[in-house]
Amino acid sequence: MIRLTPKKVDEVFLDVLGEEGMPLIRAMRKKDNLSEFRLATLLKLDVKRVRNLLYKLSNHNLVGFTRKKDKEKGWYIYYWSLLTDQIKYQYVRSKKEQLARLKDRLDREGREHFFFCPQKCVTLDFDQATDFEFHCPECGEIVSLEAGKEHLPAIKKKIEEIEKELKKEK
Ligand SMILES: [Zn+2]
Repeated sequence: MIRLTPKKVDEVFLDVLGEEGMPLIRAMRKKDNLSEFRLATLLKLDVKRVRNLLYKLSNHNLVGFTRKKDKEKGWYIYYWSLLTDQIKYQYVRSKKEQLARLKDRLDREGREHFFFCPQKCVTLDFDQATDFEFHCPECGEIVSLEAGKEHLPAIKKKIEEIEKELKKEK
């Protein structure tokens, strides 16, 4: 079983809402059943913006609502709360997506040959490097292939970490 630390829970919300949605999460953690109007006031945001964020969370089953009819105005007011039981599912899903992106990147960059200036002026693909006769067009240094592969082991390590974590869930 994957144990979700508060940091991992935050990663899920960040993945769904981005940084701008985090004040909403903090407000909803303090209190359940807040109306979108109350949330808009608390966050000093337009109510449409708040709704937009709530719908994003709703699409990932991370919030629920109850609604009550406003007797005077005749319309429904929605009261929102965070749903925590779906967070782990979302966490696993976002990790799987991240894993796919990293694997794709490793595959692509491991296969293609990029050439890097040792002074870090430019990155060239094979055709460009050939055009410049394997010299940096900015500073004239000889471009190198190996320097560009230094980050690939880190990607590979990250892939292994995620795979190991996801295995716990099976
Ligand atoms: Zn250079």
